[in-house]
Amino acid sequence: MEEKKVAVVGAGLVGSLFAVLLAKKGMEVDVFERRPDLRKAKEIGGRSINLALSNRGFKALELAGFAQEIRDISIPMYGRKMHDVEGNLTYQAYGKDNEAIYSVSRGELNRRLMNLADDYENVKYRFDRFCEDINLKENKIEFINEVSKDKEHYAYDHIFGADGAFSAVRGVLQKTPMFNYSQEYLAHGYKELSFPPNEDGTHRFDKNCLHIWPRGEFMMIALPNLDGSFTVTLFFPHKGETSFESLDTEEKVMDFFKATFPDAVPHMPTLVEDYFANPTSNLVTVRCSPWNYEDKVLLLGDASHAVVPFYGQGLNSGLEDCSVFFEMYEKYNGNVKEFFEAFSEQRVPDGNAIADLALYNYIEMRDLAGDKDFLLRKKIERKFSDLYPNKWMPLYSQVTFSHIRYSEALAAGNRQRKIMDEVMEMENIHECWDDQKVIDKILTLV
Ligand code: FAD
Repeated sequence: MEEKKVAVVGAGLVGSLFAVLLAKKGMEVDVFERRPDLRKAKEIGGRSINLALSNRGFKALELAGFAQEIRDISIPMYGRKMHDVEGNLTYQAYGKDNEAIYSVSRGELNRRLMNLADDYENVKYRFDRFCEDINLKENKIEFINEVSKDKEHYAYDHIFGADGAFSAVRGVLQKTPMFNYSQEYLAHGYKELSFPPNEDGTHRFDKNCLHIWPRGEFMMIALPNLDGSFTVTLFFPHKGETSFESLDTEEKVMDFFKATFPDAVPHMPTLVEDYFANPTSNLVTVRCSPWNYEDKVLLLGDASHAVVPFYGQGLNSGLEDCSVFFEMYEKYNGNVKEFFEAFSEQRVPDGNAIADLALYNYIEMRDLAGDKDFLLRKKIERKFSDLYPNKWMPLYSQVTFSHIRYSEALAAGNRQRKIMDEVMEMENIHECWDDQKVIDKILTLV
């Protein structure tokens, strides 16, 4: 593929990193983005202000020599801190010792990736270009220039669709034979709120944790920012008795928050303003296959696998697409069609697995993270895994801190769940959980 002319549609986080990695291989890369250059914009539109990066994402960033620079502008979160209605706190470490997930600003990460791409003469950004259609015979993309409103056409050897969950590139593939596609909305949406910094610029809660207010049917979470604030996200039903729809007056919002998140409300001086000013957004799962069209088009990131955000893996899995692409690249050099097909065959099951895991983790976070049995399960698992690390890696660690394929992690997680179901059936497990007999029982089952 060296010296080929390629297009990346979408200058989001995945598209921008992928452009850098293609440029490093010597390709001529044009990156098309429907929005103006976000480095010149005052505010970025779209989704969450910050997000959690973990090992899979950092591995891909490292291919661009960029992991440390991003760690330096991130805040490590070593565990979850659960807040119950009485304001009691429970802490649960994510991994061992220094294992952490990293809260980083989405806008800053994107800006820095774009600046990095600009260092390569063979990368050209074209902003304000909305991909409208692709002629797959000639591999020619039609864009609308959002400023002049003119149509523009460009032809490429290969086109990479990194244009997000509502991908126009995928829309073109959807019209080709044997292309499978599904899209499913959650009945819950989300709204971003905020804890501003204390007057002295410090954080209002422990900044090295991801804070969760699990409330059964819904939850609120908070991730720290470098400026001392937290971005707070309420995941909540769209409709129903207690829902975004039903909380429709200032009084109802205040009453609900005071009763449901009493320890958070004093830290939310602009709660009511934020609640009504900020949009309520949707959460969608997108699955499709194959991710390629011959040797002409390949989908990456949310364009091929949009997942709900509850495992913090949407971006991580999109960045992993990039690292897996370049791991496989050398093997198939020369036969691009075979390469794209093999890539799609390998990644589709992993995309589907992280979609399933993310949906399951919503239940775990909102429902179980405050539950006594759930916390005991985690404690027993952790003890067994410390004693026998080769026999048991907790599912969360497989997904977040390893590079084990998501599909394998999902299968292992299902096996572990069945084992833990049996362990939790043991008599007086709440009293005897620390006894050798519990370890012996697990040893007979693994
Ligand atoms: P996008 O970020 O959507 O970028 C696509 C780009 O393509 C955009 O710039 C868009 O303007 C452009 N574009 C779209 N259509 C066109 C077109 N027709 N023509 C030209 N350009 C186009 N992931 C994590 O790993 N950790 C987290 O903690 C996390 N938290 C999240 C929290 C929330 C609330 C949400 C909603 C998501 C979260 N995610 C998280 C998921 C993560 O945001 C996405 O997986 C990630 O942004 C996908 O990157 P992408 O580059 O594939 O797509």
